[in-house]
Amino acid sequence: MNSTAGHPTAYQLYANAGTDFSNLTWLEAQWAAWYLWIGNPIIATGLASFLLHEIVYFGRCIPWIIIDSMPYFRKWKLQPGKIPTPQEQWECTKQVLFSHFMVELPVIWLFHPMAEYFGMSTWQVPFPAWTHQAAQIAFFFVFEDMFHFFAHRALHWGPLYKNIHKIHHKYSAPFGLAAEYAHPAEVMILGTGTIAGPILYCAFRRDLHIVTVYIWIILRLFQAVDAHSGYDFPWSLQHILPFWSGAEHHDFHHMAFVNNFSTSFRWFDHLFGTDDKYREYRKRVTAMKKLNLSPEEYAAMERKMMLEAEQEGLRAEAEVEQYSFTGKKKTA
Ligand SMILES: [Zn+2]
Ligand SMILES: [Zn+2]
Repeated sequence: MNSTAGHPTAYQLYANAGTDFSNLTWLEAQWAAWYLWIGNPIIATGLASFLLHEIVYFGRCIPWIIIDSMPYFRKWKLQPGKIPTPQEQWECTKQVLFSHFMVELPVIWLFHPMAEYFGMSTWQVPFPAWTHQAAQIAFFFVFEDMFHFFAHRALHWGPLYKNIHKIHHKYSAPFGLAAEYAHPAEVMILGTGTIAGPILYCAFRRDLHIVTVYIWIILRLFQAVDAHSGYDFPWSLQHILPFWSGAEHHDFHHMAFVNNFSTSFRWFDHLFGTDDKYREYRKRVTAMKKLNLSPEEYAAMERKMMLEAEQEGLRAEAEVEQYSFTGKKKTA
């Protein structure tokens, strides 16, 4: 195989590195086979990154689409009255696909050169030890959560909200597919939180493998889709790890517009007091559960509480939208 545009082929890279193929795990062997099959490592990484994102994102959405179609699961729906229609889901899918092809695909293509620039391993096998990967992924989770908290709060500032973030808030009762339903600028801004952690880490430590980044992205996609699912099951992660945000936390952000700006963890909202309304709401739900109400009475009371929270949210949204670049409120 010839080198393309001055970049060595995968075959040349493996030969030059003296890679020993005799002691690889099944996955490592497939990894090397992929790079050797595609030949050009830039295309191999770009294609793998794009396919991984599409397969994991839509693959993770499928169970939620099925769950939404089954009334059995309604008892765990956070906003039971708001089930997305197939039309709504299809409209959302089209928009998300458009954004994936028009915004993410061109950016993903830059990923291999950028990864290489910062010293990230891509085609190399074997992979690092799983303990090493787990520690790196833990750092990416914490970094992304912090980045997202501040960037998301900034997106709730008048001009940024009106021009960018309002699209994501179209659904006051989100569903899995709505996780990446957002303005292209928002995809770029909030996507930075996912990618900047690995890039920064690699710039300093120079010992990161892209397979670790892929595992991180898979987990991050699961987190994002599940947080938008609209369901809180007794076995949901936040009931096992109390600091995990989960759907119950982010669903409130969509319903009430205020509070709960972080992604994976609850600690930043707690630290900055941006969970006060949420915690009060949860207290009221807990108190309501202790009242021994009939299912009909409970449902009616829950509907009333949700309506109040949502209306308060609409007022908060209208207020945010009144702010202009000068920071002054426009007189109506
Ligand atoms: Zn928001
Ligand atoms: Zn959201």
